[in-house]
Amino acid sequence: MDDSFPKEILKISDGLKKRKFSSVEITKEYLRRIKAYDREINSFITICEETAIESALEADKRIAKGAAGTLAGIPYANKDLFCTKDILTTCGSRMLSNFFPPYDAEIISRAKENSLVMLGKTNMDEFAMGSSNETSYFGAVKNPWDLRKVPGGSSGGSAAAVIANLTPLATGTDTGGSIRQPSAFCGVSGLKPTYGRISRYGMVAFASSLDQAGIIGHSAADLAFFLNIIAGFDPKDSTCIEKPTEDYSRNLNFPLQGIKFGLPKEFFKTELNSGLQQIFANAISLVEKLGGKIVDINLPHSSLSIPAYYVIAPAECSSNLARYDGIRFGHRAPNTSNIEELYEKTRSEGFGAEVKRRVLIGTYALSSGYYDEYYTKAQKVRRLIKNDFSEAYKSVDFILSPTTPTTAFPLNEKTDDPTLMYLQDIFTIPASLAGLPAISIPAGLDKGLPVGLQIIGDYFQEARMLGVANKIQQTTDWHKLTPKSNSEKKL
Ligand code: GLN
Repeated sequence: MDDSFPKEILKISDGLKKRKFSSVEITKEYLRRIKAYDREINSFITICEETAIESALEADKRIAKGAAGTLAGIPYANKDLFCTKDILTTCGSRMLSNFFPPYDAEIISRAKENSLVMLGKTNMDEFAMGSSNETSYFGAVKNPWDLRKVPGGSSGGSAAAVIANLTPLATGTDTGGSIRQPSAFCGVSGLKPTYGRISRYGMVAFASSLDQAGIIGHSAADLAFFLNIIAGFDPKDSTCIEKPTEDYSRNLNFPLQGIKFGLPKEFFKTELNSGLQQIFANAISLVEKLGGKIVDINLPHSSLSIPAYYVIAPAECSSNLARYDGIRFGHRAPNTSNIEELYEKTRSEGFGAEVKRRVLIGTYALSSGYYDEYYTKAQKVRRLIKNDFSEAYKSVDFILSPTTPTTAFPLNEKTDDPTLMYLQDIFTIPASLAGLPAISIPAGLDKGLPVGLQIIGDYFQEARMLGVANKIQQTTDWHKLTPKSNSEKKL
């Protein structure tokens, strides 16, 4: 990256306001970098060169008038499942490979109102189903730390683009871990807010009771400034919570003195390799050194999270994805002679293997006779998991865990074994089922690959949670580490 451009949001904002550089200049620099380096990483599906420069020009005018907010003129990227008016929105699927939405998702509208500059749309697992970004119709994304490894998923394009310095900020979505797990694998900060804190309007649905929009960036502070813009009630999304927002940057100097952090005993039954264990132990000692108090807690039902999730998420996906019938939008199979054949061929051609697997499992779990046995039971387990967290938050302020059980794994290693892939989310799914906010921040490197620390907060504790993360980032350089091989190439 040209040294005249800083990476931190506040510094970019300051540079823009003081006219050290213009939004057009920094936007052009990011576009240049995307063109130069993304061929091998594959983190973008669509690059919006023309519209980005137009928005940057507008942002510069607004800044010149003195009428611009903190994020005006700052480039960012959107996961390709947020609808963008007249801009291709594929959801990583052949099914939507020709879909140009007629409207913007709510978070896109809010970003536009605040004059952010969209660089493009990032690659992802098909319909957000996956943990490695290998299910994308547009090809796998490579991890910038080691191009033979996966970046995590499903928001792997966003996480890879941020660490490769192709964008300072990116949106993501998290249903069971899709912001936190790729953030951990790529060494960036990723926030999944409380379910209902950010509008889902215009976000292509996977499992509606779990899907949550969020943000990936270089630091907790950067996430806080972006959250200020996109959080908040939206009458167009009936699951969006009508609760006033707050200034999420106000607690960035949050003192950890006396704050209680729970370590769920059950999480540590999962075997971690010694490198990961050591890194997690270091993070815990740091939190203690900063004044935090570490407390052992129990989340007795957390071991049931993965089975419950893999009934609920496929069930909801089978219902949501029924809209792709080849008639209203998206792919349509040619040369069919009746409606049944049209549905069948369209879906056979349009969906990839993982999406089909989930639609089949979900349809089965929802069929009469099995509904109570699977779906109702899974919902009951979900309630028990939620209750475990409520109990825990009576005695602690936050919960800490590793974000993932391993670091980034080799491409193609788990593609033939879906259950192994599903285990990737063992530490992230419990908070998703409970609808709690959680963040993953970098905690160091194990054999040259990033490790994530997960902080789970109680409902609507985003500001304090970002404060904890920022405190850790003020005292460490873990979030400043960048891929060596790439920096040698001046990435
Ligand atoms: N990896 C999980 C899955 O495949 C979570 C995906 C997500 O959060 N969108 O369902």
